[in-house]
This record gives sequence, structure tokens and C-alpha cells, in this order.
Amino acid sequence: MRYSALSLLLNGLSGNRGWKPAWRTPAPKPRYDVVIVGGGGHGLATAYYLAKEYGVANVAVLEKGWLGSGNIGRNTTIIRSNYLLAGNNPFYELSMKLWEGLERDFNFNAMVSQRGVLNLFHSDAQRDAYTRRGNAMRLHGVDAELLDREAVRERLPFLDFDNARFPIKGGLLQPRGGTVRHDAVAWGYARGASARGVDIIPHCEVTGIRREGGRVTGVETTRGFIGAGKLALATAGNSSQTAGMAGLTLPIESHVLQAFVSEGLKPMIDTVITFGAGHFYVSQSDKGGLVFGGDIDGYNSYAQRGNLALVEHVAEAGVAMIPALSRLRILRSWGGIMDMSMDGSPIIDRTPLDNLYLNAGWCYGGFKATPASGLCFAHLIARGEPHETARAFRLDRFARGALIDEKGAGAQPNLH
Ligand SMILES: Cc1cc2nc3c(=O)[nH]c(=O)nc-3n(C[C@H](O)[C@H](O)[C@H](O)COP(=O)(O)OP(=O)(O)OC[C@H]3O[C@@H](n4cnc5c(N)ncnc54)[C@H](O)[C@@H]3O)c2cc1C
Repeated sequence: MRYSALSLLLNGLSGNRGWKPAWRTPAPKPRYDVVIVGGGGHGLATAYYLAKEYGVANVAVLEKGWLGSGNIGRNTTIIRSNYLLAGNNPFYELSMKLWEGLERDFNFNAMVSQRGVLNLFHSDAQRDAYTRRGNAMRLHGVDAELLDREAVRERLPFLDFDNARFPIKGGLLQPRGGTVRHDAVAWGYARGASARGVDIIPHCEVTGIRREGGRVTGVETTRGFIGAGKLALATAGNSSQTAGMAGLTLPIESHVLQAFVSEGLKPMIDTVITFGAGHFYVSQSDKGGLVFGGDIDGYNSYAQRGNLALVEHVAEAGVAMIPALSRLRILRSWGGIMDMSMDGSPIIDRTPLDNLYLNAGWCYGGFKATPASGLCFAHLIARGEPHETARAFRLDRFARGALIDEKGAGAQPNLH
């Protein structure tokens, strides 16, 4: 069923009884050409592009929970392509271009809102670093504007410009950055993939990977064995566990990242703002709540909830940037499990097992990457060759020392 103004009108006139479920959830078949583990954004986008762009539709997506139960439904919804390094920049810009046409492409309202992303700077050295980043972006054809203090003040007068420790000196703006309704992305891709013949199978946990020689033959699941011509792992925070089922050890640690939403406010913040003197980012949802977050919890964990030390850290950074936040009431907070790689950049690659493919290591950047990740992973699975824009995200970069360390933090997953 195609969604349109006409279908809305006709269904409205007939008491809204004509709507169909957005995707099918059939019982699993004994075997598929491609089995994707993980029904988050990346697994569903991969299935969608496999069917749509590469004509591979005998595909199953196995998800242990419900669709959207992982990070795709827990993130702070920010999209941007303001990257410095050559490995990252073209990839995230491809993603941005896909976001720009996504809703028309999969015929679903994902509330893509290009309201801008503004990174504040607080010192001359930081301004120089952002100038360099902005120049690198422009050289790659990405939009970037350096704003001085007065230009920032004109847009966002409520910021604490004269904070004694962290005075705001300006910001780097990417006007095309913004936010997207996160769970709608999972639903849109699921619907598009299902309509093209992909089986979406929720509540089906993969508990083991069966191998014969150097090949995978299928997966043990809570709903029985499912054979696979090719097996693709897209399990985000659980990547080490699922790869471990195939005997692989990944250069990845799992950490909790928390996020927060406030009570609904009248329109206050019409862009995304990030604090340059700490890790804090905030936007306002269409319901009025301020959605914000900060750093990961520094310890390894698979618990989808955080602790109070980070709550304090995030609140301090938020109030240092916008003093009025001190009077805000918080509605909810939650956590998601992040797969933090050694250099802070992702992995889209084959593995030492012939027909096992890996999509992992998304760290803080995985939501904005969803469309490009799905497209590039689908390309790799269908063609056996990396997609042009994801060539840098190979596993062997860790052995070759060709790291893509955007933050310059070294082999410290908790610091990326
Ligand atoms: C609080 C928070 C805020 C964030 N904010 C942003 C942001 O603003 N912008 C941004 O770009 N990124 C952000 N991220 C990161 C981003 O959300 C993730 O990198 C990205 O969503 C990961 O890819 P995914 O959507 O496929 O993951 P998920 O949605 O986590 O999908 C992986 C799925 O695999 C399933 N799975 C795991 N093990 C198994 C198994 N054995 N069998 C079957 N299924 C299994 C899980 O249940 C899960 O649904 C944030 C993350 C968090 C936690």
C-alpha cells in the first residue's frame, strides 16, 4: 500500500479501517540466500537496499527484540556530515544525501528536519581546529559556515556567552545537518524491505553460528536453525558477542550511552547545538521536549541503563552552556549499548570466514550513518567488493595501522 494524501483521504472517509500492517512478520523459512542478524537501523537498511538496489530479496532479518528496541530507537536523532578525515567525510556525506531523499524513496514520513548543527568553540585554538574542519568539509563539497560570536548570539541569545571558564567565541555550522525521527527510520526501512519480499522476523534471537570448514552454514536461533547462503552481522552494541559465536574477536568494546528528554517546552531551540568545552548536544523535538546527551559511561557494560555520575556530568555541561536548563524538569532518561571501536570509526567488511560479513563499530555516529551503511553493506554482500565510499572501513586497518581516528584519542574506545 502506497502512502499518499489520497490514501489518507480515502481511509479517513472509510473510518480508517483500510490500513494494513506496515510490514509482514512471517514464520522463518528453513533457508535464505542472506540472513541479517540485527533488526536495528543498519540491518533493516541493508535488507532494503539488498532488495531494492541489488535484486537480492530472499533475505531474512532476525531481531531478538522488537523492531526499534535497540539503538535505532534510543539515539538522540542527530544527523550531520561534518567530518574532517578523508575516510569518513565522503561516507557521511553520502549518508546525508540519502537522508535528503529518503522519505520519498521509501514512502514513509521519517520527519527529516535539516535544522542545522552548530558546534560551539570556546578558545582560539578550538576556533582554528573548527576552521580546519570546515575547510576540509568544503573541499569535499560539504556545506560549512564559521560563525563568530555575534552571529551565534543573534541566533541563540540564551547561551552563556560570558561564562568565565567556557566563554563562547563562535561556532561551526552545518546548515544541512539536523534531526530525523529515529524509530520511523526503522519502520520505513522495514516496510520498504518487506514490500520487496524480505522476511522481517522479530523475537528471534541468534544463539549460535554453525560453521563447516571456513564457511557459515546458518544460525541457531530461539526459533530453530535457519540456513544461510551468506550471513551478515549488524548487531551494534552486541557485535563482540555475535562475532564471538563465529570464533572472532573484534577490536570493539561495548559501553552504555545515556540520553535524556525534558518536559515539553514552547519552541526554544530551532537547531542542534553541541557544547565545545565538554560533550553535550541538544535539540528540541516536535513535541517540545529537549532531547540531549553527553559522553558514554566509561566502563564496559551490556546493561541498557546508565548511572548517576554521567547524569551529573551531562547536567553540568548543559547548564554551563544554557543556564536556563537548571530549571528544566527531566521526563525520562535511558541507555543504549554502543559498539566503540579502537579508532572511533566503523567496520563494514568481510571476515576471515568466507561468507560472513560484518557491520559494526558505529560508536556515536551510527544513526546518521544508517542509509549509507545499509547501502554500502548491501553492496559488499551482493557484489563481494567494498562500496567505493566505504573502502576505508576495512578490518585490516587495525593491523596495518591505517586508523581513522577522527578525535585523535588513540586506541581508547572509551575516549572516542
Ligand atoms: C543514547 C544514544 C544516543 C545516540 N545518539 C546518536 C545521534 O544523535 N546520532 C547518531 O548518529 N548516532 C547516535 N547514536 C548511535 C546510534 O544510535 C547507533 O550507532 C546505531 O543506531 C547502531 O546501529 P543500529 O541502528 O543497527 O543498532 P541497533 O538498533 O542497536 O540494532 C542492533 C540490533 O541487533 C539486535 N541483536 C543483538 N544481538 C542479537 C542476536 N544475538 N540475535 C538477534 N538480534 C540481535 C539488537 O536487539 C538490536 O535491535 C546514539 C546511541 C545511543 C545509545
